[in-house]
Amino acid sequence: LMEITKRPSFTMVEGSGSYLVDDAGKRYLDFVQGWAVNCLGHSPKVIVDALSKQAAKLINCSPAFYNEPMKELATLLTKTTGLDKVFFTNSGAEANEGAIKLARKWGAVNREGAFEIITMENSFHGRTLATMSASGKPQWKDLFEPKVPGFIKVPINDLEKLEAAITRKTVAIMLEPIQGEAGVIPAQAQFMNGIRALADKHKILMIVDEIQTGVGRTGTLFAFEQYGLKPDILTVGKGLGGGVPLAAMVATEAVSCFEHGDQGGTFNGTALITAVGIAVLTEVARAEFLQQVVSTGAKLRSRLEQISQTHKQGEVRGQGLLLSLTLSDEFATNIVSAALEEGLLLNAPNSRTLRFMPALNVSAEEVDQMADQLEKLIAREVQSRDASS
Ligand SMILES: *Cc1c(COP(=O)(O)O)cnc(C)c1O
Repeated sequence: LMEITKRPSFTMVEGSGSYLVDDAGKRYLDFVQGWAVNCLGHSPKVIVDALSKQAAKLINCSPAFYNEPMKELATLLTKTTGLDKVFFTNSGAEANEGAIKLARKWGAVNREGAFEIITMENSFHGRTLATMSASGKPQWKDLFEPKVPGFIKVPINDLEKLEAAITRKTVAIMLEPIQGEAGVIPAQAQFMNGIRALADKHKILMIVDEIQTGVGRTGTLFAFEQYGLKPDILTVGKGLGGGVPLAAMVATEAVSCFEHGDQGGTFNGTALITAVGIAVLTEVARAEFLQQVVSTGAKLRSRLEQISQTHKQGEVRGQGLLLSLTLSDEFATNIVSAALEEGLLLNAPNSRTLRFMPALNVSAEEVDQMADQLEKLIAREVQSRDASS
C-alpha cells in the first residue's frame, strides 16, 4: 500500500451499526462512519439484502445497456430532487468532474464558449486534477502544478465579491451548502438565494455540491430544500451508497446537453451498486427517518453546546447530523488520538475543530455515550494545558 496517510497499526475486521471491531477484538464507537458515508451504519440489513439479492441476479451488464436498478434509482433521484437527468459515477470527485464538464459543454453551446466556474475559498470538491483545481483548500495551492485553469475563487458568504467576479467568461457558480472539509462552515441562506438570483440574472448555472450534505445528513433529504431554491446541477455521493462506491450528478433538462461520446465510465451505474442506492435512498427518504435525523441532531447539538459552555470551548456549527465543535486551542488532533485509544472514532478537519458525522440512525444512547467520553477528554486536555502554562 502506498503511504498516503498515517494509519494506526491495527486492522478493522468487522462493523455493526455504530460500532467497528479491530483484529484484537477492540470495539470502537464510530462518529466518522467512513467520512459521512455509512449513513445507515455498518453492514445494515437493507444493504446486505440489496447486495446479495442483486448479486445473484445481475452484477454488471456494461454501461452501454440499461439495467433495471439503474433506471429505478435514476427515477427516484429525479423525483426526490425535482431535477430531470442523472449521470451515475463511482465517486464524488467524478460526479463533480462530470458537473464541470457539463457546465463547460453548456457554455460552449449556449454562452459563446464561457467556461469559467466561480468556486469558494476553502471549498472541497474532490481529488481529481480538475476538482482539486476547483477546490479552495489552501494546502493544495502549490500541489500538482499546473492546475486545470478556469476556476475563480471568492470568499463564502460575500455576495458582492461574488457578483464582481462574474464576467462574460463565467459559466457557473459552484459551492457546498455547508463546507464540510473546511470545518463545517454553512453558506448563509441569503448567500445561497443570492447566488440563485445572480445565476438567473446573468444566465449562468448554479452547481450545488451535496456530496457531504445530501441524503438526509442535514435533516432534509437534500440541504438545498432548506433554502427553497433549486440548483441547475446537483452532485450527490458519500451517503448515497451507504458505504459502496456510488455518486451521481443530477441536472435540469435544459442543462443536460452531453452528446454521445462526451462522457462515460466503465463502472458507472452498475446494477449491483445502483441496487444499493435504491435501498439506501428509499430508507432515508422516509419522513420518520428524516424526523429522527432532526431530533438526534438536536440532541447532539445540545450536548456539544453544553460541553462547550462547561469547559469554555468555542461555537457549535452545522445542521442535522453534520456538526462541528470549535475548540479553545489547537488540541483537536490530541483529542482524536486519545479518543481512538479509548475506543471512540472522531474526526478533526483542522487543529481547532472536531467534526461529528455519525450514522443517521445513531441512537440517543450512543450520542450520550460519545458526549460523555468527549467531555472527559476535553476536560483532561484543558487541565493539562492549564497545568503546563
Ligand atoms: C467527499 C467530498 C467530495 C469528494 O468525494 P469522493 O467520493 O471522495 O471523490 C466532493 N465534495 C464534497 C463536498 C465532499 O465532501
